[in-house]
Amino acid sequence: MSDIRVRFAPSPTGYLHIGGLRTALYNELFARKQGGAMILRIEDTDQSRYVDGAVQNLLQSLQWAGVEHDEGVMIDDQGQISQIGDYGPYFQSERLNIYREHVNQLLESGHAYRCFCPAERLAKVRSQQQADGRPVMYDRHCREHLSPEQVDQLLQEGRPHVVRLKVPLTGRTDFTDAVRGLVSFPNDTIDDQVLLKSDGFPTYHLANVVDDHLMKITHVIRGEEWLPSTPKHVMLYQAFGWELPVFAHLPLLLNPDRSKLSKRQNSVAVEDYRQKGFLPEALYNFVALLGHNPSGDKELYVKGELVDGFELEKVNKGGAVFNTEKLDWMNTVYLRALPIDKLQPLVMPELVDQGVLTEKDGRYLAASGEDVTERVPRVLSLEQSRAERLADYREGLEYFFDSSYEIKRAKLPWTTSDEPTTKQRLEAVVQLLEKAEAAVFATPDSLEELIRGMIETEGWSNGEVLWPTRFALTGQKASPSPFEVLWALGPAESISRLKRAVNLLES
Ligand code: GLU
Repeated sequence: MSDIRVRFAPSPTGYLHIGGLRTALYNELFARKQGGAMILRIEDTDQSRYVDGAVQNLLQSLQWAGVEHDEGVMIDDQGQISQIGDYGPYFQSERLNIYREHVNQLLESGHAYRCFCPAERLAKVRSQQQADGRPVMYDRHCREHLSPEQVDQLLQEGRPHVVRLKVPLTGRTDFTDAVRGLVSFPNDTIDDQVLLKSDGFPTYHLANVVDDHLMKITHVIRGEEWLPSTPKHVMLYQAFGWELPVFAHLPLLLNPDRSKLSKRQNSVAVEDYRQKGFLPEALYNFVALLGHNPSGDKELYVKGELVDGFELEKVNKGGAVFNTEKLDWMNTVYLRALPIDKLQPLVMPELVDQGVLTEKDGRYLAASGEDVTERVPRVLSLEQSRAERLADYREGLEYFFDSSYEIKRAKLPWTTSDEPTTKQRLEAVVQLLEKAEAAVFATPDSLEELIRGMIETEGWSNGEVLWPTRFALTGQKASPSPFEVLWALGPAESISRLKRAVNLLES
């Protein structure tokens, strides 16, 4: 492994945002390409935002989407959380002492100061600045007006306080971003940010920088919304005397109208896409192209190609439009290419949940108790050329496994045919199938050849034979072709269904 180390550092707010997935995924692609390690750290110091089960949910969404990290907070198949690696703990809430020690260092070196301003004073300063049309920032009262003796006095009185960074008053803070090039902020626009809150918890800025340093992170790859925080981070690295990591800020995700990606226009939770029946491979491919394309026009990539082609320098600066039509298209391509043995475990539990089938010792039983396991792969492969999402398999498959559907007698004859003719044609099909060799049922094509051969020899019309055959086999207005349904059902079930229709016409 190289020394390259990257991290995905989500705050557990309840679910994995699609933008978070993009960040995680780009970190993964970069780590794999560089032969480095990807770390997952949970930034959970904001206790007011704590959501039960959020860490599990986040990790499970990542795992489902196919993003794999090497170190940090892990989850197993039972949903058990563990921590792996030499730089832990990887939950920030378990590192509070580390942050306090580091804040003390900054206080001692004169890079930070204690601020005792009560909330009411800060609110007043803020509203005055707003009224004057000035930027809203802390007015540095405690930095400028408190002597060391006064600070000691207030501390002895046990007065609540925060610790702030002493931001340089002049000059600029520069850094080179791997995506955006040189980025420069004038220091007088940067607030004396809080590092440690009055409850002893660190702020995001402090904890993030301390951890990235202690966890030996070499590249910080994250969304563009963090760009304004970066000069504050750079100042912190400088205050500690630490080497800067490489920063890379990924472009914003946009709605089609180029506004910032929002819940109102799109689902933003990865679990929603899972729920709607998207395949993880399709979502991975789609999200991987939100801001980077290894080779220009091509759209479909396997993970290895995405890894090989990944360069931070090739990440786009402009926002990436989240085009759900493209995702739908990709999903259909992936779904149709999925081998049946991979499709089966994705679809069948759903059909079992719906009560269409029951599962026993790895076999599937229809409502009648009949073992229909052999039918399953054929039914799925028929549906595969039509389905666009996994969710499409949730409907309309019942008649393949349950023959108790109603056949409307009046609907059996083809428009230009009548009952006696229909009955005779169905009987002819039954006889043909009864006589046919088993090999005829090997493909829909061989069944088609057989039946069309009879139609031609007899000089019948297609409709008067094929319509009632298909309708008798399915009871549905629309379905795959009669040849496909015969193939999926197999000889015994097909013949029994056709005989049912013949009997109906006899009564
Ligand atoms: N905890 C931050 C988040 O939720 C991390 C941002 C960063 O990567 O620095 O996205």
